[in-house]
Amino acid sequence: MLILLNTYPLVVSQNMVFRSKETTMQSSVSVMVYSLSGLDKLNEENVAAAMAVVEETGLSRILVTDSAGKVLYDTRETGGAVGQYTLYTEIVQALMGNDAFSCIFKNGAFRSRASSPVLYQNQIIGAVYAYEYDTEQAALLEGLQGNLLRLSGVIGVVVLGLSLVLSKALTKKIGLLLTAIRKVREGAYSHRAEIRGRDEIAQIGEEFNSLTDRLQTTENARRRFVSDASHELKTPLAAIRLLTDSILQTDSIDPETTREFVSDIGQEAERLSRITEDLLRLTRLDSSVLDAASAVDVLPVLEQVLRMMGLVAQEKGVDLTYDAAEGCAVLSSKDELHQVIYNLVDNAVKYTPAGGAVQVSLKREEGQVVLSVADNGNGIPEADLPRIFERFYRVDKARSRAAGGTGLGLSIVSDTVKQRGGTVEAANRPGGGAVFTVRWPAVKGGGAV
Ligand code: ADP
Repeated sequence: MLILLNTYPLVVSQNMVFRSKETTMQSSVSVMVYSLSGLDKLNEENVAAAMAVVEETGLSRILVTDSAGKVLYDTRETGGAVGQYTLYTEIVQALMGNDAFSCIFKNGAFRSRASSPVLYQNQIIGAVYAYEYDTEQAALLEGLQGNLLRLSGVIGVVVLGLSLVLSKALTKKIGLLLTAIRKVREGAYSHRAEIRGRDEIAQIGEEFNSLTDRLQTTENARRRFVSDASHELKTPLAAIRLLTDSILQTDSIDPETTREFVSDIGQEAERLSRITEDLLRLTRLDSSVLDAASAVDVLPVLEQVLRMMGLVAQEKGVDLTYDAAEGCAVLSSKDELHQVIYNLVDNAVKYTPAGGAVQVSLKREEGQVVLSVADNGNGIPEADLPRIFERFYRVDKARSRAAGGTGLGLSIVSDTVKQRGGTVEAANRPGGGAVFTVRWPAVKGGGAV
């Protein structure tokens, strides 16, 4: 743009000057030609006489030649060319019968040359040549050039300054973002990119921060999970060590006590294997390694679980009943489905005291298969309800442990159901007790178990 600003106005002005010079110079030459037009032959005397009446209009030099190009009249006082032959292009052109004009702008001056033939009865008898050296208009043009240059300088400095300020602000923001990325990459998950403004970089900063928030949450959950898992594994291992030490260190231990201790060791070992099984299941769910899914009819799987749990409930004095509709199929695998229903019914029986009742219902509702497991036990404190599906979260640790719980059952249920596009929610019943409701998208079909 600056180059254009510096060239275009100058080229236009130069052209305008050239055109005005052409008009004025050619009209001056015409006047001279007119004053010579009455002569049949040109010589030094008659030309000088004719030219004496012509008013010189600021021209630097005027030449008149005869038809052979010999100079008959020259306004230059010293070093005039009278008597010499001249070969100026314009004169040659004029002697060939053409008007000629040329103008150049060089070294701070316009140099214009114009010529015309002098005719007598259609015969070329000579030529008039005029030369003008004009510094006035050239000075104006150079002034314009200078002003444009100064203006360009100011514009250039302003633009440069503005781009420096803007690019500095931009690189500062990018720098902040880069620092934040580096810090988070090195593990400082609490670091946030503080980028002010509403531009795209500030938006990227916000996105980055919310990504880091999620990363931090996931990282915290992972750490808590690892620490909880180690703790859960440590407890039965410590019990096993304690029991084996007791057996080994007691000299006269009676066989009855030994059997009791060994049975306790067995129970703790069983607990360990339950925890590791559940952990493995969760790890598989985390890595999204799903069993091959097909349309599975829920009812046969539910009946199988209830047959298993029926005996346990009976032993505990809990009434286990169900009300199930046929034709409820979901996209899943039988093992997965079994695990989900088993965990829920097992919990209901586990956390319902003797004399209580557990009701299971299965139905189709607006394109969904709905399974609900309701009991009339103690229910779940409202404050614990939102966290009940977290890994190792238990309302009453001692009670859960005593009942053989690992604290992973509901997380397995929730993760499994979510992986298949379903939902699970826990609530307390108005009359007391808890109710768990699972909803899967219903599908057609489903084979026998
Ligand atoms: P656990 O192995 O301890 O049963 P879960 O993940 O299955 O672990 O359940 C988490 C916790 O939710 C339990 O420890 C218990 O406190 C509570 N809970 C689950 N089901 C019920 C229920 N039907 N009634 C009351 N509390 C329940």
